Amino acid sequence: MSTRRGPRLSTPALSSRPRPIHVRRGRCLTLATLLSVLSFGSARPAPVQPALIVSDRYRLPPSPERTRLTLAYIRQHSDPQATSTRIRPVMVVIHWTATSTLASALATLRPEVLSGRADIRSGGRLNVGAHFLVDRDGTVYRLQNETTLARHVIGLNRSAIGIENVGSGSLTAEQLRADTALVADLKARYPIEYLIGHFESQRFMGSPLWEERQPGYLTHKSDPGEAFMKALRRALAAWGLRLKSAP
Ligand SMILES: [Zn+2]
Repeated sequence: MSTRRGPRLSTPALSSRPRPIHVRRGRCLTLATLLSVLSFGSARPAPVQPALIVSDRYRLPPSPERTRLTLAYIRQHSDPQATSTRIRPVMVVIHWTATSTLASALATLRPEVLSGRADIRSGGRLNVGAHFLVDRDGTVYRLQNETTLARHVIGLNRSAIGIENVGSGSLTAEQLRADTALVADLKARYPIEYLIGHFESQRFMGSPLWEERQPGYLTHKSDPGEAFMKALRRALAAWGLRLKSAP
């Protein structure tokens, strides 16, 4: 599927200290600028932690059917005795949607039941999903509760919060800033130890975190690309945040 190409990830802006993100234009930047002037009276603004605004505009409505399908997925892949759809997040997994627009990504992620996808059909009827979806302009949409399982990474779904980025092959500088702020926010609220790109997930095979009861149920992924993960880790490191990429 064709994609709109964003700025290259190797631009100087991305290798420098992250700028504050302002998902809804104006609000955060204006407040940050005002505070820096009031506090320091200097022309040079004080460093500002990345701000994060999350929209619930496209949040998936909870439904008995989604809960039933999610529990069936957990019983099939992780624990036949499971009675809860809750997860214990210790990891964030970054993805791209392999679709070029927000609308097409939402069309894929919103239904409760998987359609197409012969490659993973044997894995159950629950649709693929994610906890967050980041548009090309950096707008962050929360799709579902962070502690409820989403089907986004084989083997690790009960440990991982999933962030999808609209695009394929190339993500934007705005998405990098948004992902940086979002990972930092999640790290502050959950005991997150690991940050991986989807393509790195099989490093965890054989570790205590890897849960997959279905023999041969495996796919090979390239998202969100090595360049994006390198840039994301560099951006987080600039804020003193280093997360493990392997068990
Ligand atoms: Zn993925």
